Order: sequence, then structure tokens, then C-alpha cells
Amino acid sequence: MAKKYLGQNFLYDPNILRRIIQIAQITPEDTVVEIGPGPGRLTKMLAERVKRLIAIEIDKELYEKLKGQLAGYENIELIHGDALKFQYENLSEFKVVANIPYYITTPIIFRLIEHRKNLKSMTLTVQKEVAERIVAKPGGKEYGVLSIMLQYYGKARLKFIIPKGAFRPVPRVDSAVLHIEILEKPSVEVYDEEFFFEVVKTAFSKRRKILSNSLKSFSKEIKDVLSSAGIEPSRRPETLSLEEFGRVANTLIKSSGFELIDL
Ligand code: SAM
Repeated sequence: MAKKYLGQNFLYDPNILRRIIQIAQITPEDTVVEIGPGPGRLTKMLAERVKRLIAIEIDKELYEKLKGQLAGYENIELIHGDALKFQYENLSEFKVVANIPYYITTPIIFRLIEHRKNLKSMTLTVQKEVAERIVAKPGGKEYGVLSIMLQYYGKARLKFIIPKGAFRPVPRVDSAVLHIEILEKPSVEVYDEEFFFEVVKTAFSKRRKILSNSLKSFSKEIKDVLSSAGIEPSRRPETLSLEEFGRVANTLIKSSGFELIDL
């Protein structure tokens, strides 16, 4: 019996699994981490194509079953544990391929991004709505913190939709396969990353408000700061590109009169 609370919706269709593998662009030299191998179909296909496969499964029952089934694969390290706690930073260069359990989609993406130092790419099957938010461009309601965070660190592409009927048991919504290539250098130059994300999060926490209102806690002269960044103060956050958010954050820092070190 699949455990719903662990996001167990399994994929068995070999054509879909092959497409996922193709998108992941893996090579025989690669180390790949699979989050949640489940019944192990994708796991075996991956193991046949890479140097080292680390598969992390939280469900003890599935883990025990898999251990027997994967015994002949010398390049698989099957781990019984929580992918949210795994020390990704201890790995040398690696790629992630995963059909992510829905209930941890955002935390797992955030954790991987946080430990992105040796991460090359992520090929993730996620709920269609989440995929659309990640690849969203300015202007729509899907565009927000998640889009900016992933487009800042990576090149995110929505590759194809998997209809919910392809999973067992059938979930409530369709899924999509994303390929996110981690950039060597973030897509926008900002003076202070933490501050940049603080500005983005603050702006989107009051999504309906115009920027001169939502960002006023950052400066008494917020209208002037926005204008000198070339941003009309009456604009709303979902209309700003990453580059424009970068300009707002950088101009706020400059206008605060702090001395900038190491620029
Ligand atoms: N990869 C398989 C497939 O495509 O059919 C299974 C995918 S299923 C959506 C998600 C898998 O992640 C399940 O096997 C579930 O038990 C496992 N899982 C759930 N939470 C986890 C966690 N925190 N860490 C590791 N695995 C987890």
C-alpha cells in the first residue's frame, strides 16, 4: 500500500522514465542523487548510466525491499534517511534526478539550492503548478519568490507535463518535469545576496501593494531610491525582472551610505 503522507505516487511508464533520463543529460562519469527511489524503476535505469548513484529513501519498508532488489548494482548507495537532512555539501560534483514527494517540494529545492556548491543540475518531477511558478516570467500571478530564487541561481526549463493518470496511485494534480541547470555565476550581479532576497521577499509579501509602499521599511526616501534605480515607484512586484530587483537592492545599499567592501 502506497503511503500518501510520504507523497508516494509512483511512475512505472518506461517511456516517461526514459524521457526524464534524457532530460537529465547524465553521463557515465556522473554522480547522481535520487531523492525517493520508491519502487526503484528510475533508480535502476539511472544506475545503468552513471558512475555513482546515491538513492535516499525515507520509507523503511521500501528501503528494505529495494535493498534486496538492488543488491547486484555495485554503483548504488542506498540510504535509509530523510533527503531534507542529507549533507549534500559533502559530495563532489553531482546532479539530482528526482520525482519529488509533493509534501517537501519547496523545502527540498531550498535545501539543494543552499548546498549548490557542487550541484550541477536538478531534473525534478514536481506538481505542475510549482513548475509553472519556478519558470514564470514577470507579469503573471505565478511569478514570485520561488521564480526569482531559482532563476537567480539557475536556468530553469519546464520540459514536459506528466498527466496525473501516469502515476500509481493517481494524485489529484498533473506534474511537470523541470530541468534546472545551476549557473556558475548568478544571473544578476547584486552587492549582497541576502539583502537582495530580503527585498524580493518583502515586496512579494505585500504583492498587491505598489513598491513605494511595500518597500518603505527599507528607506524613508524609498520613492527617490526607486526612481534613481530607474523603477517607477507605483509599479507592483510581479512586474519587476530579476535585473530590476537587483537594481533596487543595489540602489538601496548605495543610498544607505554604507561603505561597500569587496565590490
Ligand atoms: N522515484 C519513484 C518514482 O518515480 O516512482 C518514487 C517517487 S514518489 C513521488 C516519492 C518517494 O520519496 C517515495 O518513495 C517516498 O517514500 C520518498 N520520500 C518521501 N519523503 C522523503 C524524504 N523526506 N526523504 C527521502 N525520501 C522520501
